[in-house]
Amino acid sequence: MIREVVLYGNPVLQTKGEKVTSFDKELCSLVDDIIDTNRAHNGVGLSAQQIGVNKQVFVTVAHPQDSPDGDLVIAEPTVFINPEITKYYPDKIYLTEGCISIPGIWEDLKRSYMIDIKAYDINGNPFEEIGVVGWRARNLQHEFDHTQGVLFIEYFSKSMLKYHRRTLRNIQNRSKNEGAVPKRGPRIPFSDDNNQSLRNL
Ligand SMILES: [Zn+2]
Repeated sequence: MIREVVLYGNPVLQTKGEKVTSFDKELCSLVDDIIDTNRAHNGVGLSAQQIGVNKQVFVTVAHPQDSPDGDLVIAEPTVFINPEITKYYPDKIYLTEGCISIPGIWEDLKRSYMIDIKAYDINGNPFEEIGVVGWRARNLQHEFDHTQGVLFIEYFSKSMLKYHRRTLRNIQNRSKNEGAVPKRGPRIPFSDDNNQSLRNL
């Protein structure tokens, strides 16, 4: 089921998620809803917090390998439950990030090119992904942060925050008034490139 996405300003987005303790039907239904909602918004990934559920669960559809020119490739959804990034490799790159819960804002942010991550799957089996690179690594860092109550704007410089201040305030007001964004993702300004529209993490 497609659920309403909560917007910046809703405290659930800045609260650390609770760990999942039972791998039951309720969890399956939550994961289905995250997948459906992510697809409806053309997202690269989505966390439980973004549909208002304070749990450490997220989904990514970023393929483990980018295209030869470095663009994002979409894959089948992978579910991460109680995720933990066990290593951030020192080499960092800039990629342009957006967030479905903070529509209309994109910024180039510097994060690790490569990471290691461990988590549980929907059945409660532990798994690890070692040496994840490119867009998948970027998306996993962004979504892991969501499970910890951290938003990408928290990495913004003072000047970036100043530049986006009005938009952020408008989103907070919408969050109070509506509590949701339309089911279609926001339009990306200045580009019709499909890859651009998929960079909401
Ligand atoms: Zn996000």
